Amino acid sequence: MTVPFRTPIVAGNWKMNLDHAQGLALATAVAHRQREAAGVDLVLCPPACYLMPVAAVLAEAGSDVAVGGQNVHDKASGAFTGEVAAQMLGDVGCRYVILGHSERRTLFGETDSAVNAKAKAALAVGLTPIVCVGETLEEREAGQTKAVVANQVQGSLAGLGADALEQTVIAYEPVWAIGTGKVATPEQAQDVHALIRSLLPGLGSGEVAAKVRILYGGSVKPDNAAQLAACIDIDGALVGGASLKADDFLAIAAAFSTAGCC
Ligand code: PEP
Repeated sequence: MTVPFRTPIVAGNWKMNLDHAQGLALATAVAHRQREAAGVDLVLCPPACYLMPVAAVLAEAGSDVAVGGQNVHDKASGAFTGEVAAQMLGDVGCRYVILGHSERRTLFGETDSAVNAKAKAALAVGLTPIVCVGETLEEREAGQTKAVVANQVQGSLAGLGADALEQTVIAYEPVWAIGTGKVATPEQAQDVHALIRSLLPGLGSGEVAAKVRILYGGSVKPDNAAQLAACIDIDGALVGGASLKADDFLAIAAAFSTAGCC
């Protein structure tokens, strides 16, 4: 069976870390060293207030490293104090937006239907959503991983249709692996990635399912990235802590570059 080529993506989720100067220094370093991860789509997701300056330094450096938001509101405008609309992210140079990260689901009560509305809003203005799903430790230990992830995928991506689904990136991030130093084994990750891909024909089409990029996230580091990158359904990484250092972020991206994804 021929597996279609999927360009790997490595995205850095800076969360609420780094100050202005540190963020610009990191973005500049990644832009200048982008060729260390040739063939990989690189994305930096700084805090909202740094999106525009980070986009500016990336453009000044002549790089095509993309910028992404960490969240978005599903409405186009209005009385939503503290929120940012999808078009606004686009206006300041974003091409991506992370949605439904476990911290947003847990700390801010985001549901699959909220993530679904945000994904539709992002896609409507040409942003690529990176939709996060993943089980907690309790759910894994109770043997519920596949049921939980299937529900999240089906709920978060409901009604997108084939074209929008093809533009969507999914990130499998087991909650127990985020920021804990406990990475899923390649077998555990590949198993869930294969499950996610098997659900996509029901949400779009078989052809689209083979094209959708599915990232792994959860304590990805330079020393475990190559093993994950070697898995057939792992098309890149969503990286938290290790994305705050250019050396580590680029080493992870380089692992996906040399793995020649699929
Ligand atoms: C994340 O927050 O998306 C993440 C994967 O974090 P870390 O790499 O630090 O586990």
